[in-house]
Amino acid sequence: MANEHFDVLIVGAGLSGIGAGYHLQANCPGKSYAILEGRDCIGGTWDLFRYPGIRSDSDMYTLGYSFRPWTQAAAIADGPSILEYVRDAASEYGIDKKIRFHHRVRHAVWSTAEARWTVEAERGASQEPVRLTCNFLFMCSGYYNYAQGYTPEFPGAERFAGRMVHPQKWSEDIAYAGKRVVVIGSGATAVTLVPEMAKTAAHVTMLQRSPTYVVSRPQEDGIANWLRRHLPSKVAYGITRWKNVLLGMFFYRLCKFSPQRVKKMILEGVRKELGPDYDVGTHFTPRYNPWDQRMCLVPNGDLFQAIKGGQVSVVTDHIETLTENGIKLRSGAQLEADVIVTATGLDLQVLGGMQMTVDGRNVDLASTLNYKGMMYSDVPNLASAFGYTNASWTLKCDLTCEYVCRLLNHMDKHGYQQCTPRNSDSSITTEPWIDFSSGYVQRSIAKFPKQGSKAPWRLHQNYALDIMSLKLGSIEDGAMEFGKKALQASR
Ligand SMILES: Cc1cc2nc3c(=O)[nH]c(=O)nc-3n(C[C@H](O)[C@H](O)[C@H](O)COP(=O)(O)OP(=O)(O)OC[C@H]3O[C@@H](n4cnc5c(N)ncnc54)[C@H](O)[C@@H]3O)c2cc1C
Repeated sequence: MANEHFDVLIVGAGLSGIGAGYHLQANCPGKSYAILEGRDCIGGTWDLFRYPGIRSDSDMYTLGYSFRPWTQAAAIADGPSILEYVRDAASEYGIDKKIRFHHRVRHAVWSTAEARWTVEAERGASQEPVRLTCNFLFMCSGYYNYAQGYTPEFPGAERFAGRMVHPQKWSEDIAYAGKRVVVIGSGATAVTLVPEMAKTAAHVTMLQRSPTYVVSRPQEDGIANWLRRHLPSKVAYGITRWKNVLLGMFFYRLCKFSPQRVKKMILEGVRKELGPDYDVGTHFTPRYNPWDQRMCLVPNGDLFQAIKGGQVSVVTDHIETLTENGIKLRSGAQLEADVIVTATGLDLQVLGGMQMTVDGRNVDLASTLNYKGMMYSDVPNLASAFGYTNASWTLKCDLTCEYVCRLLNHMDKHGYQQCTPRNSDSSITTEPWIDFSSGYVQRSIAKFPKQGSKAPWRLHQNYALDIMSLKLGSIEDGAMEFGKKALQASR
């Protein structure tokens, strides 16, 4: 029996996959497509993570889609509201009808002779093999391993008698009211969890090896809410989105050009929140410069309030061993704990763990150059949605989707079946794809493609430059090679 065929297959029904479905329907209305989703629901990250207080750490005016206004009062939104936003978008535009749930994509095989991908997935618990084909494969599979997060090996972990959980595996039955909690970590997840758990726990300790920059920001955006009251929601959303994009870009630039000034400013903010007696030097002064790693945002200073109120303490030390009752630290101190939450990060993954073969050759993504932050050298007809590290994810994904649609329309117009980014410029040198010094990036960076020293192989991490490159730049840029089906061409 012939495999079912689509013009485009999208992998993943998270924020990016639903966005990709919308852009395809709007800009390439004649294209057939389906979304293959490994899980049983829409939403990806915003469904998977269930830990207390789960929320965004960037504002919803930029994390929301360009085509669908965020109309709630809170700019920093809780996980269930974001999930509802994604699900509503999927049902409003009929994208939900295109999703095949329980389809975990394992392998994609490209044939130049046929100018198509054969995508192999496993369906359901029985892992029944399913094969589909498509002309273009759009990976919206996120950036981390869904099966498990990253947990370092803690000596003595088997001795701990209480409950130990990674936030990615949080479940309803984890009771912490009235209990002593230690949260290991100092990233976005830790600073979210800690004040939320402190509302009912006996005490929460945030145990970190080294501090992170933590910045307080109002949960609601006064200007955005004023604009929404006085202007049509699309107009208000557009203005707020641009305001936040420009402010974010300005702040990032300031961090890069004047790191000491920004560092002083952030630390003064923390001192103001915690008072002159608090040891900000030990617990909130990182060894790196602002934006050398992702910054942590706390809405209305909730973490600082909880520290001031005595429900939370921060300990900066190393774990010597876990004990029956908690954690023994290198300094000799002992932290008593009934519950330990290992907010120690994600296990980064490329292309949703999918293997890729191009004309019989296995593709090692790490040996490819990333084209415009979305395609890979010598890999035809495949793009992936990957957001910014220094701004909201969706800003880049919206642009990526628009570019993919322009590319598909360009190919149709000229009768091309194949598009392959190729680097023929020998002067281009390679660099790691992401220049963050964070542990979770450094642990996995060897699996990721490289970026090049010049456009279009350079990753801008800059919305304005990406608008020029992805929305306005010429599709025929010399690096993108187009071709007609080999069989037709030889005829
Ligand atoms: C706790 C947390 C908070 C975050 N907060 C922010 C924030 O505030 N701002 C921000 O910009 N970013 C944030 N991020 C990054 C966040 O992941 C993105 O913003 C966004 O949700 C990613 O959407 P996505 O659709 O690209 O990926 P995901 O949400 O990861 O969705 C990917 C989907 O693809 C499916 N999938 C993966 N592999 C396969 C496969 N092989 N076969 C079939 N299906 C597959 C998954 O099941 C999933 O449904 C956060 C991340 C986390 C973990």
